[in-house]
Amino acid sequence: MLDSFRSDVRSMWRLTGTVEVHPRGDRFLFTFNHERDVARVKKGGPWGFQHAMILLNDYDGFLELSVVRLDFVWIWVTLDGIPPGILTEPTVRLVGGTIGEVLEVDRPALRRGDARVRLVLSIHDPVCLDGRVRVSPSDVLTLRFRYERLLGHCHSCGMLNHGGQRCPRVDELAADAGAEQGSQTAVDRSFQPLSLGQTFSPLSLLH
Ligand SMILES: [Zn+2]
Repeated sequence: MLDSFRSDVRSMWRLTGTVEVHPRGDRFLFTFNHERDVARVKKGGPWGFQHAMILLNDYDGFLELSVVRLDFVWIWVTLDGIPPGILTEPTVRLVGGTIGEVLEVDRPALRRGDARVRLVLSIHDPVCLDGRVRVSPSDVLTLRFRYERLLGHCHSCGMLNHGGQRCPRVDELAADAGAEQGSQTAVDRSFQPLSLGQTFSPLSLLH
């Protein structure tokens, strides 16, 4: 399992340099020797292993690994439906900010007329596939959000935090209806539990 994880991440990340993969409790510490590789991994995800999303965060090299937050993914989202007349970087940031903290706007895409943004998506909130966003006192837009490389999205409740496992929301509904039978059918069983928490160390870039 560990060997296949190591070889999988190395091949999917297509690194310029090398990465060391160290198991640390229920997490992994990745040590890169090339700064460009860190940027590539951070901007190219989310990444998956055996249909589970790999949760990543920066690591300063000092904290206990167990306290590093692993409850989000960095993800690219395309925001469809913004009228061309107001398709500007501030608008894209405003709309993206309704989903999660905006990290960057894809400026080349914006010049082509596409609103593509990289942001921090919490795995504990339902994934928002569309939304009504007020962009001025008189304008409310109905938009569609397209997430790139999203894995483990529960089709019943929209959450990311129990991919492959029984959906708590479905259980609630089943309990409400007084019927346990068939409650699993709405859950996408193809996803594995999010059991792999990963971190990597930017400090290692210096070596
Ligand atoms: Zn669910």
